[in-house]
Amino acid sequence: MSSPVLLWFRDDLRLADNPALEAALASGQPVVGLYILDEESPDLRPLGGAARWWLHHALADLAAALERRGTRLLLRRGAATEVVGSLLGEMSFSAVLWNRRYEAAAITVDTAVKTMVRAAGLRADSFNASLLYEPWAVRSKAGDPMKVFSPFWRAALASGEPPSPVASAASRAPLAPAGHFDALASLPLVALGLLPATPDWAGGLRETWRPGEDGAQERLAAFLDDELKGYADGRDRPDMPSTSRLSPWLRFGNIGPRQIWHAAASAVEQGAASHRDLAKFHAELGWREFSYHLLHAFPDLARSNFQAKFDAFPWRDDPPALAAWQRGRTGYPLVDAGLRQLWHTGWMHNRVRMVVASFLIKHLLLDWRSGEEWFWDTLVDADPASNAASWQWVAGSGADAAPYYRIFNPILQGEKFDPQGDYVRRWVPELAGMPADVIHQPWSASPARLSAAGVRLGETYPRPIVDHDAARNRALAALELTKPSAS
Ligand SMILES: Cc1cc2nc3c(=O)[nH]c(=O)nc-3n(C[C@H](O)[C@H](O)[C@H](O)COP(=O)(O)OP(=O)(O)OC[C@H]3O[C@@H](n4cnc5c(N)ncnc54)[C@H](O)[C@@H]3O)c2cc1C
Repeated sequence: MSSPVLLWFRDDLRLADNPALEAALASGQPVVGLYILDEESPDLRPLGGAARWWLHHALADLAAALERRGTRLLLRRGAATEVVGSLLGEMSFSAVLWNRRYEAAAITVDTAVKTMVRAAGLRADSFNASLLYEPWAVRSKAGDPMKVFSPFWRAALASGEPPSPVASAASRAPLAPAGHFDALASLPLVALGLLPATPDWAGGLRETWRPGEDGAQERLAAFLDDELKGYADGRDRPDMPSTSRLSPWLRFGNIGPRQIWHAAASAVEQGAASHRDLAKFHAELGWREFSYHLLHAFPDLARSNFQAKFDAFPWRDDPPALAAWQRGRTGYPLVDAGLRQLWHTGWMHNRVRMVVASFLIKHLLLDWRSGEEWFWDTLVDADPASNAASWQWVAGSGADAAPYYRIFNPILQGEKFDPQGDYVRRWVPELAGMPADVIHQPWSASPARLSAAGVRLGETYPRPIVDHDAARNRALAALELTKPSAS
């Protein structure tokens, strides 16, 4: 008699390099996939709109891949313990296997499911599919979590090269005899309600992305061919394709970091790029690891200041300023270009993420959590660890954060990293006619040049909503209030 294995997918929506799937195959039993849209277990953060769009398509891709291998992806919704408990009553399973998540609320759910499955006398096991190093594996000499990136990364690397991707047996044999799981009910994908309906704002996302495993492999191959060479110097340039853009696939586990790590290393061995490019790229994957390390040690990372002194920070409440920022109408071209790229494609270049975040926090004195929430809702790569850690990094409230007094100048950042203004022209078309020397500060152009470019400030494009120098001074004065008084 066969005793099938239930393979519970979450942030690991792939068949390649999937340790839980390999363990299921090693059992020699039929395997069926399960995805639970859990909006009921306490404290799980609901996904934002752009991430839900990605999830829909990644699930469609995974379901098709499992079908090609002779089995099904069951879709259910509800609290995970109830859904798994109910499935165990519907068929006689021998095991429930999954790959780990690292948010505190998800760990609570997974622990409850593990306890329940084991209490029923079945096997319940979890694996690492999404990190190079488990968050608890890297420790200071005193055995504590680490708070500074460079020593963290040195210690991680010193503990050994990240493991190779697991060799996949999935393609060798069908995962189940035909019809084995037909009796189990599954919701149609549309019933999960992940896609936007009215209005359908996802046109730009559809144009830009191909969610799922094949899209991830295609993007990785293109990155190794085209962008890894020169990555160390080019990665700060938003005006050209200079980074991997793998973040949303990584977020949903359509590809794992081990595969990316080793594929980049092999490409460099074959001369595709320099060792400097490789080290820089690997270190960026390291920042993702560090973010998970921090989230695991400080589960409230998306809600509370890592440094408590920022609890006294005098944030302003200014809904019109927040709306101007969200819509890309601040009057600072680089900031507006980034926020419009985000709105259209669900993604923004890292350098510009830093600039727009700094602008919200320091020029507008708005709480970093309002920016984190906007990114959470609009990014296809919205990640519980990287988003929270990065916002706190820019705010200066985080671990190993940029000092608060480092205030990005959006004009100089534009002139340095988008020197011809092409990035601004692409995303802020009303400035397309502006010459490069003034495109990052159109208010400094003469009336004749503005008129030649068809720009009427305050009409076709906003005037700056704050003056840079005044905003900078206001931000520095606000910082003083977080310092303990001298008395
Ligand atoms: C305010 C702010 C918010 C951010 N929010 C997110 C988020 O929600 N999700 C997210 O994945 N990244 C986030 N980042 C980090 C970074 O901007 C993106 O990971 C990167 O832009 C993705 O593009 P890429 O895949 O081309 O990166 P590449 O340069 O090709 O890097 C490869 C991979 O390394 C990881 N990585 C790179 N830089 C960072 C970083 N600074 N921190 C953590 N991981 C990194 C990503 O997984 C990325 O896909 C944020 C950064 C800032 C400043």
